[in-house]
This record gives sequence, structure tokens and C-alpha cells, in this order.
Amino acid sequence: MKNKKIVLISDFDGTITKEDFFNMVVDKLLSKDALKPWYEYIDGKITHIEALTGIFSQIHLSEKDMDEFISKMEVDKYFYDTMDLCLKYKIPVYVCSAGTKYYIEKKMGETLKRYNISLVSNDAVYSQEKGLRLIAPEKTNPFYDENTGISKEFLVKKLNADGYFTIYAGDGRPDLLPAKTANIVFAKSVLLDMCKQENIKTEKFENFKDILDYIRRLYAAN
Ligand SMILES: [Mg+2]
Repeated sequence: MKNKKIVLISDFDGTITKEDFFNMVVDKLLSKDALKPWYEYIDGKITHIEALTGIFSQIHLSEKDMDEFISKMEVDKYFYDTMDLCLKYKIPVYVCSAGTKYYIEKKMGETLKRYNISLVSNDAVYSQEKGLRLIAPEKTNPFYDENTGISKEFLVKKLNADGYFTIYAGDGRPDLLPAKTANIVFAKSVLLDMCKQENIKTEKFENFKDILDYIRRLYAAN
């Protein structure tokens, strides 16, 4: 990584937060029948983004209750210290999600601004009547993907091509392709198992303190 600029790219659900928004919605707000669109996606009948909209559109909380529900997501307590360090060293940070900006901005909009974090995700609209409906970016968007709306892999590829030393953090199946593309991978949960199966080298990742310490070590060595 000598003389290379570092960039940190992180998944949101289950990586920055303790629990996936998807799981919170299904567990706390909906019945198991609500998962029908998910199985249609697994069967290849609909896209990932259509499945998320199919499920999230079944949420019928008032906007106020929806805001409160979103606020209950728990953020990794070391995330902010890591952002402080990135700000200090002028390391760009990207949060990328195949979910939606809607709940990420509600949860940490101020944090994104304070630390100048770039958010790469799908848009969405919410109403009590129609629930949460995802909107994919335009096809001309460099990170557009028909299945997930945005492609995390394209983002990491672009940053590699721009000459960055890419550090990727994730926890799930959709993080495998970006993990394959990144220079350094912090993996937990399903992603960790998949990386082991595919012989992708990973760093220990219990929480963001591991990333914080890693970046500190990089700078101490240079
Ligand atoms: Mg995730």
C-alpha cells in the first residue's frame, strides 16, 4: 500500500449496524407470509430490489412511528472513532448498501455530513399507505445494477482503478463480489464463511475497533 491513497468502503446493514433493517422489519413488523417476495427472488423470478420493495411496502407504520423504528437500529460503537481517524488522515469513506438511503439517512444523516461520508445506495419513498418503495438509480449511473439497483462491486472496482488501496467491510452474501475485488477485507458472519470457502484472505472483524486499529497500524508503519 506504500504511497497509495487509502479508501474505506463499508456495507451498512449488519456491518455498521448490529442487525439488518430487513430482519428487523420481518421480525418485528411483519408475519412470515410477508417473505413471499424474498422466495420469488431466491427462485429467480424477481430482482433483489423488487423483492425488498415487495417486503418493505408491507410496512404501514405512521411516518412518526417509522422514524422511531429506524432510530432503534444500533450502530457499532467504534464506528464513530473510526470515522474520526479517517477524517484526521483524510481517508475517504463510502457507505454502500443494496438497501436504501431512506433508513440510512434517517439513522445517520448527520454523521454522514459531519464526516463527509459518501453514501452509495438506492433512493426510496415512504408513505403509511404504500410502505417503503425502493427506487433504483438511473441506468447511466456508473454503479447501476439491474438486480440490486446499485453494485458494491462496481464501486470498489472504480476506486481500485482510481489508484486507491481499497479496504472493504461487510457481513453478507452481497459483499462477496466487492470483497473479491478489494485489497483488504474485513469480514464477519456469512461473508466470513464465504471468504473462507473461496480462500479470500480476511482480517479479524468483530467490530470497527479492528478497522480502527488496522488503519492506525498502517499509518504507524509509513
Ligand atoms: Mg450487510
